[in-house]
Amino acid sequence: MDFGERYSRQILFPPIGAEGQMRLAAARVAIVGCGATGSALASLLARAGVGYLRIIDRDYVEPSNLQRQVLFDESDAAESLPKAIAAARKIKAFNSEIVVEPHSADLTPHNAEELLSGIAVLLDGTDNFETRYLINDFAVSKTVPWIYSAAVASYAVTMTVLPGETACLACVFPDSPRGLVETCDTSGILNSAVNFIASVACTEALKLLVGARDKLRRALLSYDVWSNDFAEINTAKPRAGCRACGQHDYVHLAGEGRPHITLCGRNSVQIHERQRPVDFDEVTRRLSPHGPVRHNEFVLKFWREPYELTLFPDGRAIIKGTTDTAVARSLYARYVGS
Ligand SMILES: [Zn+2]
Repeated sequence: MDFGERYSRQILFPPIGAEGQMRLAAARVAIVGCGATGSALASLLARAGVGYLRIIDRDYVEPSNLQRQVLFDESDAAESLPKAIAAARKIKAFNSEIVVEPHSADLTPHNAEELLSGIAVLLDGTDNFETRYLINDFAVSKTVPWIYSAAVASYAVTMTVLPGETACLACVFPDSPRGLVETCDTSGILNSAVNFIASVACTEALKLLVGARDKLRRALLSYDVWSNDFAEINTAKPRAGCRACGQHDYVHLAGEGRPHITLCGRNSVQIHERQRPVDFDEVTRRLSPHGPVRHNEFVLKFWREPYELTLFPDGRAIIKGTTDTAVARSLYARYVGS
């Protein structure tokens, strides 16, 4: 497809122009988390012509995602496709001329260097502060810009972090903010709140990538699409004594990793203590006497009432039906191996 024609309407916008479009084509961006926000970000950036997108997500597509996660469809949910894989497939259908590198993985201190290196801008599509602090530590330590985004119910918030220049996430939130620990599962979410904040964050990324730094927002923006409450907190200067950008104390990046995590409040536990490839055919043979089991190339599912186990090729698993990590770990040991 003709490059000039494909992006003609964006090239007509003077602050981007032909030169900006070339810069986008040469740009490398990573999106951490490909749920609602990450889907919208990836979709917008891919259509805008960002040449390389690395999509990192630990989860798989479920029917309840389809209300707001714009890159997925019913067949992805039926197959329980990993979100990173499904996203890459969908993007290829509307823009086959850019490179999308999917990683079905959980971002941890151990793999942060591998998954986040060689990137001009990092975008937050996660649903938890633990991972955001890890992204912040990595970005501040490497002086890579990143954009924080979050949405719950009708409320959404975003902030552009320019390490060494503006406040970082730890400047604004030294600890996880209480108001934002509500999750989509407890408070619900409007797809319009997500798409609003993804649009703002995507535009900030475009400004960074075409070199329009003077146009970047140096404030934490929050907006409630239902009540119309709008607020900004100035983030133009770092906070004196900030753990991350002031003292260079990267506790989240230095962390020993997280042996198991309860996911986004939806009654499930992730286990990734073991980084050992599993053979799906072998596991299927072993599990079939104990309950229904099926797999494709990317994911294996096993049902044992009241639990549902989803296993990934690297040995990582998500166990649904419990929030008790001890129960999850014992199920994993029994059915997958210790
Ligand atoms: Zn800071």
